[in-house]
Amino acid sequence: MLGQPWYHDEKGGKKMEEMVGRCDTCGKTIYCLDGFLNGVHTDSGSLQCFQCYEADTKKEN
Ligand SMILES: [Zn+2]
Repeated sequence: MLGQPWYHDEKGGKKMEEMVGRCDTCGKTIYCLDGFLNGVHTDSGSLQCFQCYEADTKKEN
């Protein structure tokens, strides 16, 4: 697993924010927020943000 998890104490609760890596296409940082990844691990093993992933998916179809 890439990156170190760290924890934020916020009003009334804890929030986990883990840096997973960077988008292979645009270099945007991909985080895992409370278990939700704001990007996609592609079949080829790279990491992409949703915008780049969707753009690639549209290209292929
Ligand atoms: Zn991207």
